[in-house]
Amino acid sequence: MSDNSDNHQAAGLEPISHPLYDTSATFRMARRQLDQCAAAIDLHPDVLRRMAIPKRAMVVSVPVRRDDGKIETFAGFRVQHSLTSGPSKGGLRYHPMVDLGEVAALAMWMSWKCAIMNLPFSGAKGGIAVDPSALSLGEKERLTRRFTEEVLAIIGPRMDVMAPDMGTDEQTMAWIMDTYSMKVGYACPEIVTGKPVEIGGIIGRREATGRGVVMTAMAAFAELGIRPETATAVVQGFGNVGSVTCLELVKRGVKVIAVGDKTGATRNPKGLDIQALMAHAATGASLGKFKGGEELDAAELLTQQCTLAVPAAMERVIDEKNASKLKCRVLAEGANGPTTPGADSIIQNSDIYVIPDVLCNAGGVTVSYFEWVQDLQQYFWSEKQVNEKLEELMLGAFHRVNGLAKERKLAKRTAALVLGVQKVAKEMERRGLFP
Ligand code: NAD
Repeated sequence: MSDNSDNHQAAGLEPISHPLYDTSATFRMARRQLDQCAAAIDLHPDVLRRMAIPKRAMVVSVPVRRDDGKIETFAGFRVQHSLTSGPSKGGLRYHPMVDLGEVAALAMWMSWKCAIMNLPFSGAKGGIAVDPSALSLGEKERLTRRFTEEVLAIIGPRMDVMAPDMGTDEQTMAWIMDTYSMKVGYACPEIVTGKPVEIGGIIGRREATGRGVVMTAMAAFAELGIRPETATAVVQGFGNVGSVTCLELVKRGVKVIAVGDKTGATRNPKGLDIQALMAHAATGASLGKFKGGEELDAAELLTQQCTLAVPAAMERVIDEKNASKLKCRVLAEGANGPTTPGADSIIQNSDIYVIPDVLCNAGGVTVSYFEWVQDLQQYFWSEKQVNEKLEELMLGAFHRVNGLAKERKLAKRTAALVLGVQKVAKEMERRGLFP
């Protein structure tokens, strides 16, 4: 809290703070990044003030009848960081630790990400504080449908469009689409992205984030003169983003030598068999018990010697304690907010090449954009078209960020944020007070 207030006060301005959000370490982290970026571009204080606090947040109670007949109520959140650049866009997360501040931070990052990618969206995020693995399919459906009803007033295809995130998937999006469609009285696929292909989803959305991570990692390798066949990788998180990242790396000849998730971690210096690891994970067994590797202390995962480290699970996993122990050449941030600002300062003084989250994991929202356009037009693309366009947009953004970092001698994260924040700032200034 004090870091952000101190920066602002040093500039002779009233500190920007908000009691609802400031208690969250993740929100304070997003704010600190914004302040650092604002200082680098001399952002007008009035614009900074608008950007520092979300435009709108909704907190709802979501009652669910459990299979045993008891009723349990969960806390749900939807935060729209801004509506300046178009409808707000962002995932829905089911995780026991979800809170308003975390969701607000993720919503802010979505604003910068959409702007870096030049997508006509503002940032949003949602979440329910629940452990989805403790719910039956029916309970999850009732929870999702009730949450949709509760936030109905602030969502819509031209207002706020959800997508999957941690703990949610295509099925979750199908329930939201159906609940919303029943309300408006017609099938409305454009209310969510990341839904099944049968009901208006796009081919390749599920894989898009992991694919994008690997596209940017390969671009970094090319710049550093690293041949993928000689490279090794370590991946934290083996859900949607982590597993697809592993598969895409293997396709390009990279050896994935260690993988971890919330159940544990496994290591094989000769390269893990990812398909076999996926089959093992699907049984619910701990990754540490995988027969094709040796068990690894999960705390040691990201600090293994490797060419490429990919955090693809939680935020703030690289902090001041472990940043100096990283032994990778490239850090590709598949997760949102995996590196704290304190860790960033340590990494900036090393030779680690960082691909910041707002760029690295933007493949998901980019293909979500294609899906939204496709649904609005009722005109469907082939997988080849999706992947080619994804690569064009990812590499375009990668080179824009790189170019700016070189030109202005900025860290990659600051360069990425500068691109995003400046675009939104220009739009805010043009539109005036109302967006
Ligand atoms: P997911 O639910 O499919 O998978 C999450 C993975 O993280 C699981 O393997 C889980 O076991 C692991 N995990 C959870 N807690 C952990 C811990 N404490 N230590 C180690 N591993 C842990 O979620 P996902 O969609 O793959 O999202 C992962 C990250 O990527 C999140 O930060 C999310 O915000 C970000 N992201 C996702 C998308 C997307 O399209 N799904 C897009 C952009 C960013």
